[in-house]
Amino acid sequence: MVRYATLLAVALWVGAVAAGLPQVRPATASQAYPLATGARIAGNQKQTRLVVDISQKVDIRAFTLANPYRVIIDMPQVTFQFPAKTGERGRGLVKAFRYGLVMPGGSRIVIDTTGPVRVERAYVLDPVDDLPGRLVLDLTAVDRETFLRAAAIDNRLPRDAPRRADRDAPTATDGDPRPVIVLDPGHGGIDSGTRAASGELEKTIVLEFGLMLRDKLEQTGKYRMVMTRTDDRFVELGERVRLARQRDAQLFISIHCDALRRREGDAEGATVYTLSEHASDAEAARLADAENKADVIAGVDLSHEPNDIADILIDLAQRETKNYSTQFAHVLVGELKATARLHKHPLKAAGFRVLTAPDVPSVLLELGYVSNSDDIKQLTSDDWRSQVSEKIVQAIDAFFTTRLAGSGAKSGSN
Ligand SMILES: [Zn+2]
Repeated sequence: MVRYATLLAVALWVGAVAAGLPQVRPATASQAYPLATGARIAGNQKQTRLVVDISQKVDIRAFTLANPYRVIIDMPQVTFQFPAKTGERGRGLVKAFRYGLVMPGGSRIVIDTTGPVRVERAYVLDPVDDLPGRLVLDLTAVDRETFLRAAAIDNRLPRDAPRRADRDAPTATDGDPRPVIVLDPGHGGIDSGTRAASGELEKTIVLEFGLMLRDKLEQTGKYRMVMTRTDDRFVELGERVRLARQRDAQLFISIHCDALRRREGDAEGATVYTLSEHASDAEAARLADAENKADVIAGVDLSHEPNDIADILIDLAQRETKNYSTQFAHVLVGELKATARLHKHPLKAAGFRVLTAPDVPSVLLELGYVSNSDDIKQLTSDDWRSQVSEKIVQAIDAFFTTRLAGSGAKSGSN
């Protein structure tokens, strides 16, 4: 909230300067990032130009990624103030594009292209007189082979990867016997997740929920809490899993909201997912597919992602993790029943990448559907969040009581 207010103040200040109005300099003007205020696309299926208006010159780096075809423009942190829906529809070689923060100090534009392209030119022009600076990207259609050659060269260059969150969290080796729980608010930064018709973003809803749940769990004094993110930043799926393993977590809860498109009908309520190679139904398969795209959306190079969900499951089968995950999912649904509206089939399974830590019991909680008018009211209500997070605390207490009592191999309900 404070940061938003600051950015707004800075934006108003910059706006005032641009309009030649008397300047009222905010106290935090040093926080002002370059402002990107508009974007235009021109061209056809052979050559396409993207132009972004930007308040000052920044260093950029443009490169291509395959599977799917994307062009990435990395730059220092920029405040994007594009008109709503900018990037949703492309033109020429640009199918669509997204923009946002990928790490503190680093912003990115991710362009989905209609096919293989080459970055012909990428540069930024200084502002001149009353004209803003301009970031210009020229793309040319090429064949797949040419594209792959260029992408291979691009990817040999060192690049800052989005970094992990929450480095200050307690480590597993500090002698504290309390179990470590990792809470994982989905999406973040350039990846907004789903969006309600009223504009609320999944990344914001799940972060606010996750922070409240963390506070409530911390208040019990029984657990050491780790978050995969505590602010609006992007974290790779693999990084979330690595963090849980690194901290020797004994429970990992990924928090999300679902959405259905209008023509897909209506659905409501919370659902708890565990990992499975075979999705329990078509809806679960669709959701896992959508959630697994987070890295693609944020412009991450997936060519080095080796492991198939099937391989991970073979590994998992040799451990107790899967039983514990299922057990916790049952306990969680049992507790949530009293307070939250549940989906008509509240326990499901599918191949979620974020649930693949082989030694950490993991569930993915879909709090509800941002596409459902009753659900979105609840998801954004402090009362509802508070009640539901209290139920989750009770489920976690019950899970660990059973587990620590040594009878954890049996399912806690049914
Ligand atoms: Zn999600």
